[in-house]
Amino acid sequence: MVLISREGSARILGVNLGAVTEDVWKESPALRERVGREWTKEHYRNHRRERTNRFINELIKILDQLMFAGGYGHLILAGSPRVTSQIRKALPKHLAAKVVDIVPASEYDRTKDVVAATLLSFIEQEERESLAVVDRLLKEVNTNGLAVAGTRASFESLKRGQVDVLVLGKAYEPDLGWACGACEAMEVGRPAPNTCSQCGARRIGEFNVKEELVRMAEQMESGVEVVNHSDALMRLGGVGCLLRFLGPEQYGAKAA
Ligand SMILES: [Zn+2]
Repeated sequence: MVLISREGSARILGVNLGAVTEDVWKESPALRERVGREWTKEHYRNHRRERTNRFINELIKILDQLMFAGGYGHLILAGSPRVTSQIRKALPKHLAAKVVDIVPASEYDRTKDVVAATLLSFIEQEERESLAVVDRLLKEVNTNGLAVAGTRASFESLKRGQVDVLVLGKAYEPDLGWACGACEAMEVGRPAPNTCSQCGARRIGEFNVKEELVRMAEQMESGVEVVNHSDALMRLGGVGCLLRFLGPEQYGAKAA
């Protein structure tokens, strides 16, 4: 949600970004137009000039209801620095926690431009969050902490329900995995055998590993973080997991 407050008006816009990424955003002016036109919905407008406490409290109450009803996870405050700082101070804790950025905008900026600026800032924020998750992953992996890296280890951890966040590089393209149609054995990171290594059946099918990892994560209600550009993540194999608890083989490694 974007709250634009200027000396002459206050407006609340809901923006549904879907899977817009920084790349698409920067490379496609046509898309930026569409974001401004189609994906933005104005929910509230008030042209009162005075910015009394009562006015601000009413604004926040409406904002709170709209964010809750629409399931919005992020809030950007835009507009005159004086008014936005007043609003920010008055926000209750649960809303303040959702503020991802404050974008200064003058009275004379067109709303479309203000929305474009706030969205760019939102997308950059998402990129920063993604890279912060990669940093955490690297740190945990390098200290044998609560994380695993690579296709096989990630798959096994997901199967055991250990995963807090699945971290995938956008460029991650693992080989197909295989599954047995008779005993439901599944294997990743190895070529498909002619007969199932578990039960000997010949009913071997292949599956897209990246999609399966995401599906498993969603089923377990783990977080999924797709990272646009990270060489460090790609060096780890393009995939890794932050874990909620250690797996059996990791206990072993700790004890040794
Ligand atoms: Zn089998």
